[in-house]
Amino acid sequence: MEKAVNKESDRMQDIISLCKRRGFIFPSSEIYGGLNAVFDYGPLGVEFKNNVKRAWWDTLTRMRDDVVGLDAGILMARRVWQASGHEEVFTDPLVDCTNCKSRFRADHVAEMSGDPDVCPNCGMRGTLTEPRKFNLMFKTYMGPVEEDAGLVYLRPETAQGIYVNFQNVQQSMRKRLPFGIAQIGKAFRNEISPGNFIFRTREFEQMEMQFFIDPTSEERWFEYWREQRWNWYLGLGMKAEHLRWHPHGPDELAHYARAAMDIEYEFPIGWKEIEGIHDRTDYDLKRHAEYSGKDLSYYDDAEKKSYIPFIIETSVGADRSTLAFLCDAYDEEEVSDGTRVVLHLHKRLAPVKVAVMPLSKKEPLVELAHKVHDEVRPLGLTQYDETGGSIGKRYRRQDEIGTPYCVTVDFESLEDQQVTIRERDSMAQRRVPIAELRATLAADLLG
Ligand code: ATP
Repeated sequence: MEKAVNKESDRMQDIISLCKRRGFIFPSSEIYGGLNAVFDYGPLGVEFKNNVKRAWWDTLTRMRDDVVGLDAGILMARRVWQASGHEEVFTDPLVDCTNCKSRFRADHVAEMSGDPDVCPNCGMRGTLTEPRKFNLMFKTYMGPVEEDAGLVYLRPETAQGIYVNFQNVQQSMRKRLPFGIAQIGKAFRNEISPGNFIFRTREFEQMEMQFFIDPTSEERWFEYWREQRWNWYLGLGMKAEHLRWHPHGPDELAHYARAAMDIEYEFPIGWKEIEGIHDRTDYDLKRHAEYSGKDLSYYDDAEKKSYIPFIIETSVGADRSTLAFLCDAYDEEEVSDGTRVVLHLHKRLAPVKVAVMPLSKKEPLVELAHKVHDEVRPLGLTQYDETGGSIGKRYRRQDEIGTPYCVTVDFESLEDQQVTIRERDSMAQRRVPIAELRATLAADLLG
């Protein structure tokens, strides 16, 4: 058992080290010793995460008529967070160790040290203080003077930006219920025990969709969105056996929710939440109506009635789901010449779509390879690789970053104007005319 756990945490370390080595994710401010629980996305990481965000955005907005997009500001009026309840209750129970001065979330101690009375850092028993409430919102001040009147929060979730714009969007877009508003953006939480790489950070991105409905259709839409969100992961190649539902019991439910279900992913560090689907009832719009003094009810023409819409929310972390896709894709395979590390990423998510490599650095091969590279550039991010090393080594480098197709230009290509396409997962190779290369790869990348 112990061995299996170690192997799994080794797997996480392998993934973290691949991310650093291959330009996916770096620790923030690294040359200054780092900034705890903040990460920077490198050239391949930004492409990869953008692809995850694009897949979410396209599925939710472009492929549907009943969800529209929004990009609200990170800073919002303080009243928003009073209405939402965050100023009062967005807290975690915090305990301090009087021996080593470490600080933990009270509800994480037992899982971390195996005993709720034992400090997970120094291992001393009975040194933890009574839990006290700690608000997770970051504060800053607007204007030149640091005074209470200028206090603003960095938003801890993107959802509130959607609620306060409900009427703006509904009226300007002439939307009838049911309809949804989707948003992707940064959120900030002063987490007490962040960690596990990009799983829990203090600055992260959320992808949230709020679906506004007639109160009588609450259960139907909750079930509908559960199914949609589950299928989104499967459609992007995630293995079904690595996903499961976690229904919230009455003691877990947030103050605003009538029902909540998490989608959990089996990370190398165990089963953890990646997304929440919440039935928020009319809590949010009622609270904002009360605090703003504005009537936020909706008049239903067909039913000839007025009501405050209910909301079904789907909320997922862009970073956390990116990590899940990464863990799911990571593999170490035994092949004829050793072990190959490969990311079996879905083609839509892979940061680099095609790599072009001449067999040798000699002219006129290089000239032709550059032409072939220009041919495939419109397909997405591509790489040109004429660095030393055998073609096999260069394939391995592309496998490690999940590139679905490599195109090799060899001396025969000069004669027959054909190149070799090598496929990442099967490692199969086939020869195609350069004139047909772009169309062939475009079809393969879509398929
Ligand atoms: P947790 O219980 O893990 O703290 P939560 O239930 O507070 O999460 P929500 O407020 O429902 O999370 O946020 C929705 C999603 O946002 C989560 O499912 C997760 O994917 C992401 N998320 C929340 N907090 C963080 C964080 N600190 N770092 C990265 N992603 C986060």
